[in-house]
Amino acid sequence: MILYCDWGGTYFRYTTGEEIFVIESKRFNLFDFLDHFTKSQSLSQINISFAGQVKNGVILSSPNITLKNFEIKREVAEKYNITLLIENDLKCAALAEAKAREANNIALVYAGTGLGGAFFEDTLLRGSDNLAGEIGHIPYQEAPYLCGCGNSNCLELFCSGSGIQKRVTHENLDSNLTLGERYHSRNPDEKAVADDFISALIYAGCTVLALLNPRFLILGGGILENEPWLFELVKKEILKKAFPPAAKNVTIEKPIYKNSSLEGTKLLGL
Ligand SMILES: [Zn+2]
Repeated sequence: MILYCDWGGTYFRYTTGEEIFVIESKRFNLFDFLDHFTKSQSLSQINISFAGQVKNGVILSSPNITLKNFEIKREVAEKYNITLLIENDLKCAALAEAKAREANNIALVYAGTGLGGAFFEDTLLRGSDNLAGEIGHIPYQEAPYLCGCGNSNCLELFCSGSGIQKRVTHENLDSNLTLGERYHSRNPDEKAVADDFISALIYAGCTVLALLNPRFLILGGGILENEPWLFELVKKEILKKAFPPAAKNVTIEKPIYKNSSLEGTKLLGL
């Protein structure tokens, strides 16, 4: 049996078939989970999409999950005799969304706990350490708090759930508001959080169009999913502000899959 998992900053989701099970990431421990799971099921392989930087079966780092330089593939093979395939979550999502469209040229920008990106042109664009696409960590503006990567000027600090949380705490704002409520708030400080989020997302989209000239740009992630009003607004602004020749033939769409990263784990190793 193959276990498919999406290990995000907020939730760990897994499935072996149709039904998807969810555990809060902060309560999740991989070895406890596998100890328990392997007692009742016979596992041959585990495919993981991971919200962080991975290379050749090693978790290098993760801005929103406290793991670093963890040789996950080797440890799971030694302890459980299970083959483990692990890939960055957005790269998994790109595999799934490219296949679903039969597209050979696609870019993803997802705003959830973090801000991630991935690019696919016939194959995944990886870079020398499998870090290509980390759009959340391009320098943007200085903030008075740190990103999970250690810098204080990342785009992700303005355009992600974790970034909003840090700002809300720092500025002593209302932690219970949705992005939509902030956007319509009469409090200029609350409104600025939403306005800055939107500007940063537009910046991310325009940057991707200029750099990669994709045929499809997919805007997704937990925040866009929870705030349906956001997609059309951001799409319109990206098309208006981006490098005109690159904006001309791009199709900006929502993801086809509700959980593209989990769907993409089914394509790992194929
Ligand atoms: Zn960062």
